[in-house]
Amino acid sequence: MSVIGDVIEKVKQKDPNEFEFHQAVEEVLMSLEPTTKKHPEFVKAKIYERIVEPDRVIMFRVPWTDDKGEVHVNRGFRIQFNNAIGPYKGGLRFHPSVNLGILKFLGFEQIFKNSLTTLPMGGAKGGSDFDPKGKSDNEVMRFCYSFMRELFRHIGPDTDVPAGDIGVGGREIGYLYGYYKKIQNDHTGVLTGKSLPFGGSLIRPEATGYGCVYFAAEMLAAKGHDFKGKTVAVSGSGNVAQYAVEKVNELGGRVISLCDSSSTIIDEEGIDNKKCNYVMDLKNVKRGRISEYAEKYNSACCYIGESIWDVIKNQGIKVDIALPCATQNELDGGHAEALVKNGCFCVSEGANMPSTPEAIRIYQNNGFLYGPGKAANAGGVATSGLEMSQNSMRLSWSREEVDSRLHGIMKSIHKTCIQASDAYGAKGDYVLGANVAGFLKVANAMLAYGVV
Ligand code: NDP
Repeated sequence: MSVIGDVIEKVKQKDPNEFEFHQAVEEVLMSLEPTTKKHPEFVKAKIYERIVEPDRVIMFRVPWTDDKGEVHVNRGFRIQFNNAIGPYKGGLRFHPSVNLGILKFLGFEQIFKNSLTTLPMGGAKGGSDFDPKGKSDNEVMRFCYSFMRELFRHIGPDTDVPAGDIGVGGREIGYLYGYYKKIQNDHTGVLTGKSLPFGGSLIRPEATGYGCVYFAAEMLAAKGHDFKGKTVAVSGSGNVAQYAVEKVNELGGRVISLCDSSSTIIDEEGIDNKKCNYVMDLKNVKRGRISEYAEKYNSACCYIGESIWDVIKNQGIKVDIALPCATQNELDGGHAEALVKNGCFCVSEGANMPSTPEAIRIYQNNGFLYGPGKAANAGGVATSGLEMSQNSMRLSWSREEVDSRLHGIMKSIHKTCIQASDAYGAKGDYVLGANVAGFLKVANAMLAYGVV
């Protein structure tokens, strides 16, 4: 068996129930096969075996009290996966589906994504199986305080800098940071995604969505296309989806869809910025459901219990570009076949691992421009890196300055992917390009440290 095949097999044997982690390891390692030939020194130093093993896994109890005084217990996690090139960096996810396998997949992906940004950041991820949906602000606050009561001892501005992810937005970061500051008596850049008055960066909320669209625009430009007049499907309706819609509108595209875990809305007239502002208020302030969009705008149809990709498949809806911005494995082989049939030719992933391996094979066999999440959604963590820089320098850059740096980083990630895919014999393959380029920097750093 090849070195890579052997490592994948051992990962599966060691932790047989961590399916999403197996999927992520397999996807990355399969494209690293050519590096084993070019770099026998990595094979000898067992870099491949070492990189799939987290530096450290922290699991803890998170007890909290609801508004009626009832006690609840959730499980908290922080996976500090690899800090070869910088302090651990990666978001916190609060969602009932959270488990060790999901956070290990996200932490593993984060190593390569962070490396691609060119900023000095290692890979980590954390979170809890707590569900903020339907909880009062006070309940969310008590949960966040309890979560930080344990997490604070494992993080620090030069050690590990968490941020948001699904279920962790500005409100949660405020509570987490407030409690950290209180018990540590430190006002430092220990979390990113902070609000502006206490060290946040302009453009951080926009960064992942904008970055995903910037990456798509680069892929399109490489083939002589752009967003103008294109029909775009966006999934999700949270942070990443909202700003992806805003940027597509700015570049002249027409977004026709959004969803949440309960329903999908299709608005063939397009979700313009006025409608997008309504969605931001609905989801971020009122904490409502996307089905309410169809009550407000009669140009929209609502499909209860169906994902966007189901609706596109079942209704034969035409789209040119797909931006999956909700969650992992939302788009499977059947959905990808439907995208091909309905004229889609470009997929840029705002979410982490939203396409199943079968869907990716279908994109590739049909010559799609396909930007994998670790490249296409790296704008969020890159701007978190810029927030860290501003915190260290004790200054704030303007909106224009941060946006232009973000845009520059997304262009450079695109170029790096192209160059790496060329150098490793797979011209134009963004999956291989992103994995190889992200890996080489981390592997060289690990090699330099010896066996630690
Ligand atoms: P949010 O919590 O703000 O939004 C998530 C959205 O996806 C919500 O609309 C949610 O609906 C929907 N969703 C979640 N699960 C499902 C599901 N099973 N089916 C359909 N819809 C679902 O999270 P973000 O926007 O921050 O994150 C979205 C994705 O982007 C995740 O994969 C995340 O890891 C990735 N990402 C985020 C970054 C960031 O900076 N925020 C950075 C890089 C990647 P509901 O309201 O019903 O839960």
